[in-house]
Amino acid sequence: MDPVNASLAEIHDRLGAIADGEVADYIPQLASADPRTFGLALVSMSGHCYSAGDIDEPFSIQSVSKPFVYALALSELGPAEVSRRVGAEPSGEAFNAISLEPGTGRPANPMVNAGAIVTTSLVPAADPRDRFERILACLSAFAGRSLDVDEDVYRSEVETGDRNRALAYLMRGAGSLSGDVDETVRTYFRQCSIRVRVADLAVMAATLANGGVNPVTGDRVIAEPVAVRALAVMATCGMYDTAGEWLLRVGLPAKSGVSGGLIACSPARFGIAVHSPPLDRAGNPVRGVVALTELSQRFALHLMHQPGRHIATVTEVTTALDQPSFRARTPGERAVLDREGHHIVVIRAQGVLEFTETEHLLHALRESVPDAPGWIVLDLDRVTRIAVGPATMLGSALAGLASTGHELAIAAREPLLDPVADPAPWTPFRSRAEAVAWCEDRLLATTAAQPSG
Ligand code: GLN
Repeated sequence: MDPVNASLAEIHDRLGAIADGEVADYIPQLASADPRTFGLALVSMSGHCYSAGDIDEPFSIQSVSKPFVYALALSELGPAEVSRRVGAEPSGEAFNAISLEPGTGRPANPMVNAGAIVTTSLVPAADPRDRFERILACLSAFAGRSLDVDEDVYRSEVETGDRNRALAYLMRGAGSLSGDVDETVRTYFRQCSIRVRVADLAVMAATLANGGVNPVTGDRVIAEPVAVRALAVMATCGMYDTAGEWLLRVGLPAKSGVSGGLIACSPARFGIAVHSPPLDRAGNPVRGVVALTELSQRFALHLMHQPGRHIATVTEVTTALDQPSFRARTPGERAVLDREGHHIVVIRAQGVLEFTETEHLLHALRESVPDAPGWIVLDLDRVTRIAVGPATMLGSALAGLASTGHELAIAAREPLLDPVADPAPWTPFRSRAEAVAWCEDRLLATTAAQPSG
């Protein structure tokens, strides 16, 4: 068995023995859930799914829907409008607490019921039916397949949902919820009744962890800044009144639901989901909490954990004396290059350039580029991406070198750096060989103009 499946299977077999917790019993469909049901699924950034246990059991998504509908509202309205209507502070209270900010009536956050009801009401739509269809389409895009509604769960939620109705009336009274209370609450109940399997939740979580692109379908579901916001709110508010303890012990954005679903997102690594109906007193699935605590420790997933750099960034610092181009040269030119080639410094970097890697590259530039004006080849052929801020850092460092008289050549198959000035302070080439040859030509032209003594 492959090691990831084996880890999940081992956790499943061992934690299956935990008998703590109570299955939610406010509606018959949840009360009848088998407390032994226990499934785990993990979806990686390459879209591979790993799983163990009861993975074919359908269940209602319940509160695990909340971060996804929040992401939908953010996508449609933008962060400013959404924050005007719902906060982002952990409430420290139960999921169904009365949560109204003094003065504004704004619910504390979109992960508790009050905030989720407001969030649902914010999804722009022609009518309530259209609003729910948008929510269902969005959650389906997150899951990578068409989801449907468990109508029995929905009916029961409507019948028993007085506390949520009461919350909605209070919020309307306070001015933070507009529109028809009964319709809004019904849309929220329908959203909670969307039917999923544990692997669906893992794909949905993986989509958030992957910056909004579903790693299975390859479709962009939401913009990256929206995914970041949803993850941030999950990190601080996703586990209700145990959110602080969760961040301490597990250190991953997560969301639980009353049917026993639990998702956690490890940014740029994977999404994971657990289904196990017995809940602790905060309403979080007991086995899910233990499973995630163990997985986080085993694979060092805590967000505050310092992962170390994956690969060396600067892989080569050399000069055209040691690594000349292959361009044919006359004996006279060759003699000049043999004498002066050390004025052409070649620096090669690789991988993704985030802040730390770029800082490292800039340090290498400072160390290896002499003060006297010369030529610099930056070989970025093996750089796969430069983050926006780091690109600006690198661009301005290169502009600084150009302003002190250096001539710069950048080798990259695709343009990675936007020019910081017009004309750009560097010349782009598609290969390192062309870049070095160009610098040699420039060097030969200068020495021809002023023969060295
Ligand atoms: N339908 C449930 C409710 O609104 C969802 C709550 C939950 O999953 N924690 O009360």
